[in-house]
Amino acid sequence: MDIAENIARVRQRIADAARRAGRPEDAITLLAVSKTFPAEAIAAAHAAGVEVFGENRVQEFGEKVARLRELGVYDHARWHMIGHLQSNKAARAAELFTAVDSVDSLHLAEKLNAAAGKLGRTLDVLIEINIAGEAQKSGIAAEAAELEALLEAAPRLAHLRVRGLMTVPPWSADAEASRPYFRQLRALRDHLAARRLPGVAMEVLSMGMSNDFEVAIEEGATSVRVGTAIFGRRVKP
Ligand SMILES: *Cc1c(COP(=O)(O)O)cnc(C)c1O
Repeated sequence: MDIAENIARVRQRIADAARRAGRPEDAITLLAVSKTFPAEAIAAAHAAGVEVFGENRVQEFGEKVARLRELGVYDHARWHMIGHLQSNKAARAAELFTAVDSVDSLHLAEKLNAAAGKLGRTLDVLIEINIAGEAQKSGIAAEAAELEALLEAAPRLAHLRVRGLMTVPPWSADAEASRPYFRQLRALRDHLAARRLPGVAMEVLSMGMSNDFEVAIEEGATSVRVGTAIFGRRVKP
């Protein structure tokens, strides 16, 4: 398992998908999902040119940070929280992460805003959309009142920058099964962008994982979250 080789392969696939879609390759950010992997693996990916990482647990990431500092990586990369975040962990998340891509309630946004304010920081956030309305999944349904509430609150959340949308579609071994969901998220993004809501930017569309990131790029993803194809199979969930 050579992390640098895997990254080169993923970057080639990103470039190929971008070309097929008539999009510039640099319109797509590769976010390496390093959950369950140690700081040394993250450092190897960073050495191979990856600058943005995703983690899904506050505590697990917190335990890696000291080592990432020792390795000289922490201050030279961006760290995105991509998993469900309980509001009682918002303060710690605001300390550790540069961005939260999984904001799924106004309550959580308010907690993050207050925590970032105390730290004198601004956090980039994405709104996570439960695009297929799956009962067990986090994220806000596209037609939910909660989404409107969150968008309306954005101008007063001075320590958050709402930058776009994120989604995880229903899992399928067939990448094409994700395409309609990616299209729906893109349409929602376009619809919200056209409303020109104050305090709400809609330039980021985070969608696509190891099994379907090429389809996501064809459908307009600006950020793809790739774990397994870079670091290998995870032994823990
Ligand atoms: C784990 C995870 C990924 C990466 O999944 P892979 O299939 O390993 O690429 C992407 N997004 C989220 C939200 C995740 O939790």
